Parts: sequence; structure tokens; C-alpha cells
Amino acid sequence: MEKIDVAIIGAGVIGLAIAAQLARLDLNVFILEKNDSHGGGISSRNSEVIHAGIYYPEGSLKAGLCVEGRHLLYEIAAQKGIPHQKTGKLIVATSPEEKDEIEKLEATGRQNGVTSLSLLNRQQVAQMEPHIQAQAALYSPDTGIISSHHLMDHFLTQAQNNGARLVCRTSVTGIERESNNWRIFAQNDTDADFDFLSAIVINASGLYSDIIAGMMGSTYHLHYCKGDYCGITGVKTGLVNRLVYPAPAKNHVGLGVHLTIDLNGRLKLGPDATYIERVEDYMVEPEKASLFYELARNYFPFLKPENVYPDMAGIRPKLQGPNDLVADFIIRQDAPGFVNLVGIESPGLTASPAIARFVKRLLF
Ligand SMILES: Cc1cc2nc3c(=O)[nH]c(=O)nc-3n(C[C@H](O)[C@H](O)[C@H](O)COP(=O)(O)OP(=O)(O)OC[C@H]3O[C@@H](n4cnc5c(N)ncnc54)[C@H](O)[C@@H]3O)c2cc1C
Repeated sequence: MEKIDVAIIGAGVIGLAIAAQLARLDLNVFILEKNDSHGGGISSRNSEVIHAGIYYPEGSLKAGLCVEGRHLLYEIAAQKGIPHQKTGKLIVATSPEEKDEIEKLEATGRQNGVTSLSLLNRQQVAQMEPHIQAQAALYSPDTGIISSHHLMDHFLTQAQNNGARLVCRTSVTGIERESNNWRIFAQNDTDADFDFLSAIVINASGLYSDIIAGMMGSTYHLHYCKGDYCGITGVKTGLVNRLVYPAPAKNHVGLGVHLTIDLNGRLKLGPDATYIERVEDYMVEPEKASLFYELARNYFPFLKPENVYPDMAGIRPKLQGPNDLVADFIIRQDAPGFVNLVGIESPGLTASPAIARFVKRLLF
């Protein structure tokens, strides 16, 4: 492996989607992953929601790539038998102020090309979801859920069928420009150092993408923002059939503690959003159960404190700090043949196939 065409750093949903896209071009593609296997990073610790594209500022990459990615994901999932379900979603208002918020959200969604939204009154919400409590809701029929692991397996198989190679237990430790190529320095699990040349490098390393970008001379700074989830037990399946979100929080940090349903019909609450030090800490404090119960009981009157238990957590790679405005995805060719993807937080899973197309257009 002295000289290759494309080195992709990171085998999460983004790196794998890009590998699937570029391997079709008859290029010699290698995916380098520090973990034992693909998909163990942010891509395996999220809500697995196919977002419609409602929340993001008009004209942003997040808005455009989410809407395009959503169409592509439903298409891919249907064609390739990837477990998914178009559940629909309700964004509920429990006060007059929240009613104003969801009306604003409807307008943003429409600007982004999400044409299927409708505002529902109390009676209409009750007809759709008799067990939730809301004064009004914004209904998004195009929101759904997908198995992120099956999706990643699909992208990997597609890439490998076109000759791409996944190299695990290999950490990229340095990058240098050398004539018209990039020299990549890496370390494998036996601590052996090696290096090779690549014409193109794609930095899709999630929580470490600012550090990798720094190795080639670009300056970005990521903040870690943790999202905890709580599971729900002892509640009849089928009680709620759509995803249920609160009206958006004023601080723009997350989408608010919401209820998602997995493909087995299990309910969970979360994620919340807490800025943390730069460590991969996935521990969920036991107090989160009562906190989430208090947040959710407003619109889920059927919940009892004992139904809620601490479950899992994920970490968002955010470009914006605690008091900053929402930042867009960074997807840039910062130097010839070097593409950095930084701050790929939500809706990164939904946008993944569209991001892969976007990267291909940047390069070819
Ligand atoms: C709590 C939470 C909820 C979310 N919910 C949703 C949702 O419902 N819908 C949605 O669309 N999006 C959601 N997202 C966003 C989505 O999960 C991410 O945008 C997406 O998974 C990012 O994928 P990635 O490939 O960039 O990162 P990752 O999956 O983290 O992949 C990066 C890979 O790079 C590897 N790596 C890092 N450094 C190196 C190195 N030096 N050498 C080699 N390999 C390296 C890592 O090990 C990792 O496997 C959510 C995110 C979070 C945190």
C-alpha cells in the first residue's frame, strides 16, 4: 500500500457512504478506522431518526443535505431491504408560547422544501395519538426511523463490492503534503508505525475531525455535547405510534427531550444536551431518569416515574459552543485533494448519502 487513490479516515456512516460513492469510480479506496470494526463511533449512538429537514436554517448544508438525504435513504432502504419505518412525527405545543414556536417551525420547514407539514389542533392530535397531551402539534409525515447498523453494513458492502478495503485497528497519527500527494502516517494495533501516499484524503473522523484537520494545517475546534437517553419500560407497546418531540428549546442546543420508537416498538426518551470536557464519557447518571420523567410527563400523562430508566448516551461533535448560534456542517476541500468534514452532528445520519454525493462533486 505505497500509493493509493483515496484514503478515507473514519468508518462511521459518513466515511462509509463516501466510500460507497467513490469506489464506484474505479478508484483504489481504503477506509482507515481506529476501532476494531466499523460503525462504533457517533453513528452507533444516536436516535436513528430519518429527519424531514424542518429545523435547519434555509440555504444551509444541513437543510439541503437533510432533505436530499431523506429522499435517498427511503429509496435505498426500500431497494436494499434495510429495516426502516416512516412513522411520522408530532412536534407538540403545551402552551400558547410553544404554539407560536411550532408555527415558526412550520414556516422554516416549508422554506427548506418540506411540503408535507401540517398544523393540528388539540382534537386532531387526540385522534392521531390519544395517549399524549398537547394543545396543538406540527405533524411531519415524512419523518421515520432506520437501522443505522444495517445502513452502514450496506454502504460498506457496496464499497467493498467495488474494491474498497476497510483497514481496522489503524489510527491516523500524522499527515504531510508531498509533491501532489498526501503522506499519511498511521499506527496499527501492534503499535507498528507505517506510512503511505494517497492522492485524495477524506477526513470523516467524527469526534476527532478537528484534530485530523489540524494535521494538514486547517484550524477548527469541536465542542463535545453529550446526549443521554432513558429507556421506558412497563408501558404497553403501541400506546404511542409516532415520534413525539417538544417545541424547540430556545437555546438551539438540541431538539429537546423527545420520545422515539425503535424498530422493535420500544420507546425511549432523549437525548438531552450537555456540553462536556473532551472525553468520550458515555455514562448516564441515575438521576437522569427522574429528570426525564419530569420533562416528559407534560405531554405523556401515562408515564410513571418507575417506567423510566437510564440507558445510553451519544456525543455530538459541535462547532458551536454553549452560547453560540447554530453552526452549519463544514464540508470543504481545504487543500487540493483534501476534504474535511467537521461538525457532522444531527442530521448527519439522514444526510449521509447526500453528503457522499456532495463530496464527490467537490472532487470530480
Ligand atoms: C445523541 C445523538 C443523536 C443523533 N440523532 C440523530 C438522528 O436521529 N438522525 C440523524 O440524522 N442524525 C443523528 N445524529 C447525528 C449522526 O449520528 C452523526 O451525524 C453521524 O453518525 C456522524 O457520523 P460520522 O461518520 O461523521 O462519525 P462516526 O460515526 O463517529 O465515525 C467516525 C469514525 O472515525 C474514527 N476515527 C476517529 N479518529 C480516527 C483516527 N485518527 N484514525 C482512524 N479512525 C479514526 C472513529 O473511530 C469513528 O469510527 C445524532 C448524533 C448524536 C450524538
